[in-house]
Amino acid sequence: MAKPKVATCSLAGCFGCHMSVLDIDDRILKLVELIEFDKSPINDIKEFTCQCAVGLIEGGCCNEENVRVLQSFRKHCDILISVGECAIMGGIPAMRNTIPLRECLEEAYLNGPTVYNPAKQIPNDSDIPLLLNKVYPCHEVVKIDYHLPGCPPSADTIWEALVALLTDKPVELPYELIKYD
Ligand code: SF4
Repeated sequence: MAKPKVATCSLAGCFGCHMSVLDIDDRILKLVELIEFDKSPINDIKEFTCQCAVGLIEGGCCNEENVRVLQSFRKHCDILISVGECAIMGGIPAMRNTIPLRECLEEAYLNGPTVYNPAKQIPNDSDIPLLLNKVYPCHEVVKIDYHLPGCPPSADTIWEALVALLTDKPVELPYELIKYD
């Protein structure tokens, strides 16, 4: 019987949540018995090859490319999970949300104390995805089915949630896996 497919992506994230997926250590052997990865940086498959059972999203949306990828995940994944604070709330990238975008760009490319930019140009090549006015959590862009909190969520949290979903059990994470005090 074909194994369910799992896809993952990192939008405006740091890949720490993907590192946490890999932190399941030797359980990765059990995982590959349960699933196959489709589009994911873990296997470097760049495009969806089929409909997936689960999509794991790291990071929020800071540019138009993030939005396009997230919409594509919503379309190709039956269950979509925001993994980590950046996907759930915008995280550290969302610290720019209180500052006008123009001001952020000028600080980064013109006025910052370590900037060397004699041409005084802010990059605007058409190949560079356009920045959004602010960083959006994933659920403000598409419907998200589950949120796994943490920065990053622990490997145990990701493992328990994924196995429950893949074996048609309710996702009932014990308190110690979702407490952050
Ligand atoms: S939630 Fe934390 S670990 Fe995950 S992408 Fe954001 S900053 Fe990195």
